[in-house]
Amino acid sequence: MVKKQIAILGGGPAGLAAAESLSSQGYAVTVYDAMPTVARKFLLAGKSGLNITHSEDYESFASRFGASDDRLREALDGFKPSDVRAWAAGLGAETFVGSSGRVFPTAMKASPLLRAWLRRLETQNVKILTRHRWMGFSDGGYLIEKPGGVCVIQPDAALLSLGGASWPRLGSDGRWLPWLRDKSIAVDDFRPANCGFDVDWSEHLRERFSGEPVKSVTASSSAGTIPGEFVITRHGIEGSLVYAHAAALRDSLMAGEAAIFDVDLIPGRTQEQIVRELGKQDPKASLSTRLRKAVGIDGVKAALIRELAGATNLSDRHELASLIKALPISVRRTRPIAEAISSAGGITWDELDRNYMLKALPGLFVAGEMIDWEAPTGGYLLTACLATGRVAARGIVAWLGRS
Ligand SMILES: Cc1cc2nc3c(=O)[nH]c(=O)nc-3n(C[C@H](O)[C@H](O)[C@H](O)COP(=O)(O)OP(=O)(O)OC[C@H]3O[C@@H](n4cnc5c(N)ncnc54)[C@H](O)[C@@H]3O)c2cc1C
Repeated sequence: MVKKQIAILGGGPAGLAAAESLSSQGYAVTVYDAMPTVARKFLLAGKSGLNITHSEDYESFASRFGASDDRLREALDGFKPSDVRAWAAGLGAETFVGSSGRVFPTAMKASPLLRAWLRRLETQNVKILTRHRWMGFSDGGYLIEKPGGVCVIQPDAALLSLGGASWPRLGSDGRWLPWLRDKSIAVDDFRPANCGFDVDWSEHLRERFSGEPVKSVTASSSAGTIPGEFVITRHGIEGSLVYAHAAALRDSLMAGEAAIFDVDLIPGRTQEQIVRELGKQDPKASLSTRLRKAVGIDGVKAALIRELAGATNLSDRHELASLIKALPISVRRTRPIAEAISSAGGITWDELDRNYMLKALPGLFVAGEMIDWEAPTGGYLLTACLATGRVAARGIVAWLGRS
């Protein structure tokens, strides 16, 4: 019997997860990727250790996807964080839980895992065609630009797993948006997620403190109060604590509202305790001395207090303490999407059926970051990409069985 042919357009984690699942069930799978090698963003994620999933309890984990919690739930139920760890271990990449609960491969990089994964795909006869770019629809099939020309493929089913729009030089450049919109498929414009923000720093702060981490603080926004750390950059702020607030700050900016990243420089002490400690200092001593001796603040934290003092009377210990507990960093705009860890926006959920098939284009499925969901950093992104790749593969099998 001739095997059913399945085309996977886009060879990131979502596409490769689908390819693995389908090929293990005997389907003839070809992965087409525009770049010279697959999974470049996955490899880049490995530079910071490859936070592949998170160890928190599953109910909390599944609640990190905001408005998409319900829509992603079935996919996540089918490939939970524990499954991600077992899958990685099966490929020789044992994982460990870091102090923040985030899960990393012991090797703290992506390349050994990716190599083993690609070997498994090869063993399962998955064909990977790199430098093959999907260019839209043609003659009832998919137009592919490849070295030396173009061709049209007409597989029995196809999966789009083209990624979002961050770091476009790694392959996911969102060029496909108009091709789907031409088919009347609703695609929300991509927006930066898990991104840095511009702040109008003084020349002094920029020159003297960019690159400096601000550690052991909490920050508040409409996303809540979250502990962590962030980094001062030439343009503004970035880092995990900023990313945790990024969606809330971005949405405030988009609504034309002020977006304030409110930092508590000493979360371990109450404002009253700080007032008391400041009261014990010589009022004639310099601000630096009072801050250092009373509450151990110096360096970048002291610089931020001076920078953001505004009308605060820093000689008044009550006003100073209140600034230390709620330092308002006003962010002006998101950094460009090309610098973001991930993107929000993409194909809207209403376009998909329960099996991740586009209702308007039967036989064409979608997975990964190109669907309209977002999540904070912490391994949620990769887990959801792997999970949606697998659930879309299940949908393809069901659809091929019926058709
Ligand atoms: C710096 C950085 C660090 C990150 N770290 C983490 C982390 O630690 N943990 C985590 O969970 N997430 C992390 N992420 C996010 C994570 O890597 C992405 O969410 C994930 O890779 C998305 O997977 P995907 O398969 O949907 O898309 P992608 O990985 O973007 O893959 C899409 C693929 O489609 C191909 N493609 C695009 N257009 C076409 C076309 N027209 N034709 C053919 N092929 C095409 C691309 O070349 C690419 O290979 C990080 C991202 C970045 C940028």
